[in-house]
Amino acid sequence: MTTTLPKPTGQMPDTAIYERRESVVRSYARSMPRQFNKAENIWMRDNQGGRYLDFLSGCSTLNYGHNHPVLKQALLDYIAADGIAHGLDLHTDAKADFLDALESVILKPRGLDYRAMFTGPTGTNAVEAAIKLARKVTGREMVIAFTNGFHGMTLGALACTGNAAKRGGAGVPLSHVAHEPYDGYHGPEVDTAELLERRLSDPSSGLDAPAAILVETVQGEGGLNAASPEWLRRIAAIARRHSALMIVDDIQAGCGRTGSFFSFEGMGFTPDIVTMAKSLSGMGLPFALTLFRPELDQWEPGEHNGTFRGNNHAFVTAAAALRHFWSDGRFQQDIARRGAMIERRLEAMAAEHGLTTRGRGMMRGIDVGSGEVAATVTAACFDRGLIIETSGAHDEIVKVLAPLIIDDAHLSAGLDIMETCIREALAVPYGVAAE
Ligand SMILES: *Cc1c(COP(=O)(O)O)cnc(C)c1O
Repeated sequence: MTTTLPKPTGQMPDTAIYERRESVVRSYARSMPRQFNKAENIWMRDNQGGRYLDFLSGCSTLNYGHNHPVLKQALLDYIAADGIAHGLDLHTDAKADFLDALESVILKPRGLDYRAMFTGPTGTNAVEAAIKLARKVTGREMVIAFTNGFHGMTLGALACTGNAAKRGGAGVPLSHVAHEPYDGYHGPEVDTAELLERRLSDPSSGLDAPAAILVETVQGEGGLNAASPEWLRRIAAIARRHSALMIVDDIQAGCGRTGSFFSFEGMGFTPDIVTMAKSLSGMGLPFALTLFRPELDQWEPGEHNGTFRGNNHAFVTAAAALRHFWSDGRFQQDIARRGAMIERRLEAMAAEHGLTTRGRGMMRGIDVGSGEVAATVTAACFDRGLIIETSGAHDEIVKVLAPLIIDDAHLSAGLDIMETCIREALAVPYGVAAE
C-alpha cells in the first residue's frame, strides 16, 4: 500500500501584481509561492500543473476536502434555481433547512439544547458575540482566557488571544481579559485548574469575578495542546461555582477535527456557549455561529448585528454537510481510525528523534524543537508536494490538518513525506544549514 506522490512541477508565479497591489500583510502566500487555480478532494493545483496534497485544509476549514461533490451539487442546484444568496437575517428556506439539520442531526441526538445566533461570517465575530453575551448576562467585565489561546483578530477576541505578535497589531490596550495557565502549562506536576480555583476563591488574589471562561479543548494555533477531559470538566465546574459562563471556542477543533462533531462530546460537561466557524459551511464559505443555552438568549433585537449574517449559500452547503457526514456514526469511526494512524506515525517520528507529539483526533502535530527547524520541514514538504503548516508560540510544531475524508493510502503517503523531511532537517546540524 505505498502511494508515491508525483513531484509537483509548479513554478514560482510572476508576483509583480501582488507586490504592486496587495498589502504585505499576506502571510501563507509567502511559504507557498505558487498561483493556485483548482482544488478537488485532497488536492490543490497550481496554474503550472503542480499538484499538492493538502495537509492544511484551510486551517481546518475544509475538513470535508475541496469541492466535495455532494456539497457542490447542492450549491449548484440552489444557485440554478435562483435561491436567495444574501438574506440579512430574514427567514429563508435555506436558513430553515439549516436549522432543521442542526437540530435533528447534531443537537437532538446529543441531547443538547442550544439556540443558534447567526453572527457575522468569521470566527472572530462568533467569539465577539459570545463574550459580549457573557458580559451582558452576568453584568461582569472580566473574561478568563488561557495561555497560548487563539480566538481571532478583532479587538475583543484579540484581547483573549495570547500571542504577543498578534496582540501587538491592536494598537490600543487590550483589556478586561486575564490569561491563566492552560492545562499542562507549568508541566505535568502542576494542576492549573487548581491554581485557577484558588485564585478565584481568594478575595485578595486580584482576579476579578469573571463573566466567562473561554477555552479551546485543543489549541489550534497555540501549539495543539490538548486539554484532558478531567481538566476541562474541572474548568466547567469552576465556571459554575463562580457563576461565570463556560465558552468553548470550537472554531478549529469542532466539525469533526478532534473526532466528534463538537470537540467536548463525551467529556461529561456541557458548555454554556459554543463558537463555531471554519468547517461549518463545509465548503470554505464564510459562516459562523454562536450557540448558547436558551436562558442566555437575552439580546435585544439587533443588539449584535452584521450585514453578512445571512450567507444562504453557506446554509445550503452546511445543511448538506451535516446530513451527509453526521447522520450516522460512520464518519466518526473513519476519523478515529485515521486519527489513530496519524498518532502512531507521529509517535514513531518523535521516538526516532527524541521529540514530542501533541493533539487529538485528526488535529495533531510534532514539536520539532524550533521555528527554524519547523520552517525547514514545511518548506521541504512543500517542495515534495505536501502543503503543511506550523503552530505554537514559536511556530515550532509541524501540524497535520489533513482533510478528514482522506483515504488511508494518501494519508500514509503524506506522512511519509513529513517523516523524510523531518529526518533531513534534523540531520543537518543546527546553524550549518545548507543553502
Ligand atoms: C480561526 C480561529 C478563530 C478566528 O476565526 P476567523 O474566521 O479567522 O475570524 C477563532 N478561534 C479559533 C480557535 C480559531 O482557530
